Amino acid sequence: MRVARRVESLPPYLFAELDRRIAERRAAGVDIISLGVGDPDRPTPGHVVRALQEAAADPATHRYPSYYGLPDLRRAIAGWYARRFGVELDPDTEVLPLIGSKEGIAHVAFAFLDPGDVCLVPDPGYPVYETAARLAGATPEHFPLTEETGFFPDLDRLAVPDGARMMWLNYPTNPTAAVADVDRFERAVAFAAEHDLLLAHDAAYTEITFDGYVAPSILQAPGSREVALEFGSPSKTYNMTGWRLGWAVGNAGAIRALSTLKTNLDSGIFDAVQRAGIAALSGPQDHLDEQRAVYQKRRDVVVGTMNRLGWDLVPPLGSIYVWVPTPDGQSSAGFADLLLDRAGVVVAPGRGYGPSGEGHVRISLTVPDDRLEEAMGRIAEAVGR
Ligand SMILES: *Cc1c(COP(=O)(O)O)cnc(C)c1O
Repeated sequence: MRVARRVESLPPYLFAELDRRIAERRAAGVDIISLGVGDPDRPTPGHVVRALQEAAADPATHRYPSYYGLPDLRRAIAGWYARRFGVELDPDTEVLPLIGSKEGIAHVAFAFLDPGDVCLVPDPGYPVYETAARLAGATPEHFPLTEETGFFPDLDRLAVPDGARMMWLNYPTNPTAAVADVDRFERAVAFAAEHDLLLAHDAAYTEITFDGYVAPSILQAPGSREVALEFGSPSKTYNMTGWRLGWAVGNAGAIRALSTLKTNLDSGIFDAVQRAGIAALSGPQDHLDEQRAVYQKRRDVVVGTMNRLGWDLVPPLGSIYVWVPTPDGQSSAGFADLLLDRAGVVVAPGRGYGPSGEGHVRISLTVPDDRLEEAMGRIAEAVGR
């Protein structure tokens, strides 16, 4: 049997490789603390779990769901956008529920990219933007995100190659934890309009922000409805990574193209999960302040430890990560290996997020406080400065 080239040529998924190495060490009896993966350690809010339990017991949820999601879920997403961002969406034409936002992030490539087309992807960035473009037969082209430009693309200098059809942004950012404001989004919208690009914004972390910072939606930028699609998810906001729910909102034509593709690939989201999503978006949001405080405290533990060790990190304003330069010109894989060997701590090597991620590692804030303190204590000893 021959496996298709598009699969054979894929690099191993970063976290799959990490998982393998963690399992190896654990099997050898090492107490490993993984700060490698961004998967919230705290539980889904109780009322959301109860909504799922009730819905799962209702036989009406046991049949094939609608391709376009429950109308009540689409309305709940639109309602949340109106309350949270002041953005009015048509729940019938501008909202599409997804089986986790990663599903839509990958599939939108197949709706917008033909073989030979080019997709502009942030470097460093979430690996799915690039691999999905590749799987669709298109060419991903990196644009570098550097500290000098606040990890935002330098749009005045960014050359747009022939065949470019879409561009990805992600704020607050995985892995750099950078944030953007509406002015920057407005410039990106104008850039996309000028070059006839679909502007895809991954908004997974808008609710995980610190020090009073409030993250905008790209749909708050004037003109965004003409060019932009925004991907959202309850995964990080409501600690629902395992539930597989997400949404795309924005340009109606893009929503239509993505939903047409999806009707041929999947059969929708378990209705009980959709009802739980409605409970999450429409119910009490009071877990959020506490959750932000928890992550902010953990962020301070990481930034505080690294800065005591000689780093010069500015505390990030969003996401569940701290982006840390490697010491003494070490490679990102080399420094990650050193921390695994000497401290039993897993961090994500920045190179896995693109060439410009080299020279950095990503530390995730999604382990309980005592384990994070333990991990940082071990790192302090291992790095020993
Ligand atoms: C966690 C994350 C998501 C959310 O993915 P889901 O499929 O909705 O769980 C999306 N984008 C980025 C960059 C992420 O880190």
